[in-house]
Amino acid sequence: MSPAPEESSAGLGHRLRTPLTHIIGYSALLIEADSSSSETIAHLEMVNGQAEIILRRIEHWLAPSADGGGASERVAALRAGMAEPLRVITRTIGTLLGDSEGPAQLDVLRIARACTELLAFTQQDASTLRATPAPRPVITPHTIPAPMPAIPPRILVVDDNPGNRDMLDRQLGRYGYSTVCVETGAAALEALRQERMDLVLLDVMMPGVSGVEVLEQIKVQPSLAGIPVIMISALDEVESAAQCIELGAEDYLLKPFDPVLLRARLHSALERRRLQEEQRERTRELEKATQDMQRANDDLQAFASVASHDLQEPLRTITTTLQLFALQSGDNLTSQQRDLVTMAVEGGKRMSRLISGLLAYSLSGSTEANLGEVDCEAALLEAITNLREAIKDSGAQITHGALPVVMAHPGCLVQLFQNLVGNAIKYRSDRRPEIRITAEREGSEWVVSVEDNGIGIDEQYKRRIFQPFGRLHGQDRPGTGLGLAICERILRKSGGRIWVDSEPGAGSVFHFTMRATQNEGRAHQ
Ligand code: ADP
Repeated sequence: MSPAPEESSAGLGHRLRTPLTHIIGYSALLIEADSSSSETIAHLEMVNGQAEIILRRIEHWLAPSADGGGASERVAALRAGMAEPLRVITRTIGTLLGDSEGPAQLDVLRIARACTELLAFTQQDASTLRATPAPRPVITPHTIPAPMPAIPPRILVVDDNPGNRDMLDRQLGRYGYSTVCVETGAAALEALRQERMDLVLLDVMMPGVSGVEVLEQIKVQPSLAGIPVIMISALDEVESAAQCIELGAEDYLLKPFDPVLLRARLHSALERRRLQEEQRERTRELEKATQDMQRANDDLQAFASVASHDLQEPLRTITTTLQLFALQSGDNLTSQQRDLVTMAVEGGKRMSRLISGLLAYSLSGSTEANLGEVDCEAALLEAITNLREAIKDSGAQITHGALPVVMAHPGCLVQLFQNLVGNAIKYRSDRRPEIRITAEREGSEWVVSVEDNGIGIDEQYKRRIFQPFGRLHGQDRPGTGLGLAICERILRKSGGRIWVDSEPGAGSVFHFTMRATQNEGRAHQ
């Protein structure tokens, strides 16, 4: 019989497309099967192609712009349009049935049964058509790269139509995936609770819990939300599929499944998921490494502070005892013995300076998080105050140009100026020390320069002096060899750098960079 008078075109379209999906799907599966001969493949391609023609005709018939006419004329026109391709399919199936055996013959029989349902419709008896949503054409897949991991990805197939489930199960199996097929949304949620899935292929339209509802459930559960979901929809359910994408679905596939697209989309969704997981794992590792490093750094600094304190204490006892000994001995000591005591005391003081220097060096890298806006001029003035005795003794003249506000740690900037201006005084020549501090803007940085007219530095030592203990002098100019190393470390930690231009005998210019503040760096005279 023809369709029930109350049945809509869309309803009829759905019912016609289900057997058509099976013809297209099973013929595609048989085309891919290794056991099919080239002659069989040609026959199957014929079946597949004719089914595709019928499908296009149905879609044209369903389109709102399709030719007008009364309902019964339209149905009659559709029947007429389907008749010839169906005849070709029926004839070809006859040949295929004769040629096939075993499991392949079962699939041909499935095609034959679907064909009978369509024939019933063209012969005015639609009552045998089973109700289910469905289809679109299939392209024969021959080549798609899909390297399989050692453990095959597990895919959950959710479709209320047994034929669709069977085809997907077999198709995915052929591609090397492991599948779990369920019939309802409720069963899908249960399966997801039971075991880990790498991807879900989810039918949009299902009785009971719909695909959209299953998707919503998946996306609200943190343990499931990361699983990619690909929606399966018929052409006229695309709007719902689009809604699913907005709800977090990865992609959608149209029925009947185009094997090339199916494989490509699965591959890309699984690949994306793998990369995301890798990225998450790397972030976790990085966070752990940063925490470990921070802990090690804290431990080291705590150790340095304790060690410094514990070393300074006995050292002070040694030097003060020796000084006391010299004092109490008075004239009983020969001048040679007195010199020996003085040497020992000086050695003790040097060692004390060295310990303080090493502590300062180990702490110099710990301030990055505290970067803030610091006025260079204020930092320079504080450094000059700390150096007042050396400045007074040497008669050094210190001038400066406009100095900016930069991003730095206030204490570190004072230390930088103190080390550089202190060195400019310490490594002076016979001339009266003249020291000038200036700053110039370069892009997002300020370059601050400390210029002196001291002894200068030979070209070959310009890098060495920034390394710990990179001293070029003996104790005629006392020092620890750590001052410039501390400067270099402070700057490295705050994203800056330090270098020197120098001419032996003429003087040196030490330059260092500091990040400018967000608002244009302020400069003042
Ligand atoms: P220290 O001054 O304690 O020896 P530094 O790390 O501050 O250690 O300096 C390392 C070496 O660089 C110094 O020993 C010195 O030879 C050289 N140096 C530093 N500043 C100057 C300068 N302004 N002029 C000439 N030489 C310098």
